[in-house]
Amino acid sequence: MTSRVFNFYSGPAMLPLDVLERARAEIVSFGGGASVMEISHRSAEFMAVLGSAESRLRSLFNISDSYKVLFLQGGATLQFSMVPMNFLSERESADYVITGTWSQKAYKTACEFGKPNALDITVSNGANRVPVQEELHFSENARYVHYVSNETIDGVEFPYDLDGSEFPAICDASSNILSRPIDLEKYALIYAGAQKNIGPSGVTVVIIRNDLLESCRGRQSGVLSYNSFADNLSMPNTPNTWGIYMIDLVCEWLQQKGGLEAAAVRNAEKARLLYSAIDNSDGFYTGNAELSARSKMNVTFRLPSEAMEIEFCTEAEGKGMIGLRGHRSVGGIRASIYNAFPFEGVEWLVEHMQDFARRKG
Ligand code: PMP
Repeated sequence: MTSRVFNFYSGPAMLPLDVLERARAEIVSFGGGASVMEISHRSAEFMAVLGSAESRLRSLFNISDSYKVLFLQGGATLQFSMVPMNFLSERESADYVITGTWSQKAYKTACEFGKPNALDITVSNGANRVPVQEELHFSENARYVHYVSNETIDGVEFPYDLDGSEFPAICDASSNILSRPIDLEKYALIYAGAQKNIGPSGVTVVIIRNDLLESCRGRQSGVLSYNSFADNLSMPNTPNTWGIYMIDLVCEWLQQKGGLEAAAVRNAEKARLLYSAIDNSDGFYTGNAELSARSKMNVTFRLPSEAMEIEFCTEAEGKGMIGLRGHRSVGGIRASIYNAFPFEGVEWLVEHMQDFARRKG
């Protein structure tokens, strides 16, 4: 294997090495035949891959027959449009819980299609908290409640599964899907771009409850309709075959490593180590999120100055740690430590943090 670096990018992000090595072998010949990228999406071989990816997702999440698992394209961004296009008409309303950059974008997009309400939890100096359930009072006429379970840019994560009560809860779980077990019954629709925790970019997983699916039948057509994906085994057109194949491999890897319970333990331990380094730095590093909303996937923090942040990242790169710059809209440092990110990489970063603070603090 050529040398690897510890990659803290927020997505596309690190994939398990075992998965990459298996994919490397099969990119040329899959099961002794053509490349998995070369075979028809209608072939028996690919249908088996699709079926396997779906059943592994079902098994990891314990998904019942009341839900469909779909593979779409267009990223989570298309879901920002598809959700209101399928469930809202011009005069209808939905509640959007705003906890950061992505939920704000989802809300803005929904404004183009209907009359959503913003339940804005952000504070004047940015996004650093999530509401407790009791704080959320949904509008009587809401068609659904939308939220983002992990704000990738701000590093703010819901520590619980939001309860929409009588309203269908729709969740953008792009950056924490498969990172821990969830209470699926609380969700009517979950969507996630794959490129952080499930696979490569270019494929979006949608888990949708049958009653919600039926409620939007006929509202859209073709690739803009959830029903056309559900009715055609996720193939109203050619799907991202390579992406789905990679999802299958990533899910198999997760299953071999003990499923979501075990993933949650590993993720909590990695996050604990990193947040301890922030908390024990005598104020040299300051975390963005409030304690109760700290993301286990994207750890965001600041140094005393922007110049020091640049220096911190440049030095880290020299040591084989890349992708630590915060999103261009908020600056600072962001360490994305998804499922496939190794514990050892977190230890390296902590050592760099301690060393840097010792020299510059
Ligand atoms: N939602 C969240 C939470 C994200 O992190 C991202 C991408 N980083 C998006 C939506 C947009 O995803 P995409 O680029 O796949 O459309």
